[in-house]
Amino acid sequence: MPKVYNWQISREMQYPYDGVRPKRQFGAVFNINRCINCQTCTMACKSTWTFNKGQEHMWWNNVETKPYGGYPQAWDVKTLSKLGPQRWENGTYVGKTIFEDAPQGAMVLGYLPPDDEWRHPNIFEETPTPYPQIDGGKTQGWSELPVHQTFFFYLQRICNHCTYPACLAACPRKAIYKRPEDGVVLIDQERCRGYRKCVEACPYKRPMYNPATRISEKCIACYPRIEQGLVTRCIAACVGKIRLQGWIKPREEAIPDSPIDYLVHLAKVALPLYPQLGLEPNVYYIPPRWGPREYLKQMFGPGVEAAIEKYTHPDHELLGLLQLFGVTQKIIERFRVTDTDAIAYDKNGHEIIRVPIEDPVIVRPPQHFNTT
Ligand code: SF4
Ligand code: SF4
Ligand code: SF4
Repeated sequence: MPKVYNWQISREMQYPYDGVRPKRQFGAVFNINRCINCQTCTMACKSTWTFNKGQEHMWWNNVETKPYGGYPQAWDVKTLSKLGPQRWENGTYVGKTIFEDAPQGAMVLGYLPPDDEWRHPNIFEETPTPYPQIDGGKTQGWSELPVHQTFFFYLQRICNHCTYPACLAACPRKAIYKRPEDGVVLIDQERCRGYRKCVEACPYKRPMYNPATRISEKCIACYPRIEQGLVTRCIAACVGKIRLQGWIKPREEAIPDSPIDYLVHLAKVALPLYPQLGLEPNVYYIPPRWGPREYLKQMFGPGVEAAIEKYTHPDHELLGLLQLFGVTQKIIERFRVTDTDAIAYDKNGHEIIRVPIEDPVIVRPPQHFNTT
């Protein structure tokens, strides 16, 4: 099996195909700290792409409550349990990826969720872990930073348009491809015969089977919008302004004024979801400040402490860039932070938008007071 370099695990790994990186790679950062679980993103995707017969159970974007929620149910627990213990040493993943741990005759270690696990997309919504102690009917322990003793948080999920997609690796029809111009991963609806090998192989369970057409479908990164320089529907609709879309380079080639490169590679405040699985996913998360660190490390890798520290005490440049989340429907190619403003540019270097880093304080004059 060929070897490819995966910067998220700091080593080479086995993958069924040679690694050819696209000219540009779709990437996004989701800030978990700011999500309000309104599901506007979920409905924006649903009302655009999955409202037909056979798509009733499909939520290409979903927001689930961790640690108990999952769509399909327990998708991550099941895959992690199959993989067994996962070990990191000095920032390098030394355990096996799902490609390296594939059973005999298969490309990927995976499983096919039964139908009932797709039935409750928001199971355990807003269900926290139990309070640590109960003393005479009173709860003990507090929800205070730095770590809440009882916790939950929202995890926003779309297809990661992985650099090394498991769905693509497993498809016997070669019906899945990665677009060279933007790295978007698509299922060719003509070639697919509905074997569901992609559903089985993707550890994030993003391909979904359509029983009406008998072929599989998945998030398409709203590519018709990307082609017009616009962000996806789920990103444009986000009420909490937690999402930023752009382009991501491998760490060695990071562009300092590209917003996603800056957040992921320079500030290192945004981390991939389950990097140890080996897919080099291209959606990144700013981890929740209050989450138990060991749980978050399993989910986002060893950079969690540093990312939370950086987010809690941002420097001026990071603070500026954080103001550009959700302020424009256009894809921000470059950004610049001045003493007072954060500025976004399009691919031609034209200014798209400029926002103040600190809102001005305006005191209502006495003649406009409601009460005297
Ligand atoms: S998240 Fe799953 S469906 Fe999306 S590209 Fe990666 S392996 Fe394929
Ligand atoms: S990128 Fe587009 S297709 Fe994918 S989840 Fe978001 S709205 Fe749906
Ligand atoms: S629209 Fe934004 S804030 Fe609302 S649930 Fe989705 S990601 Fe969270």
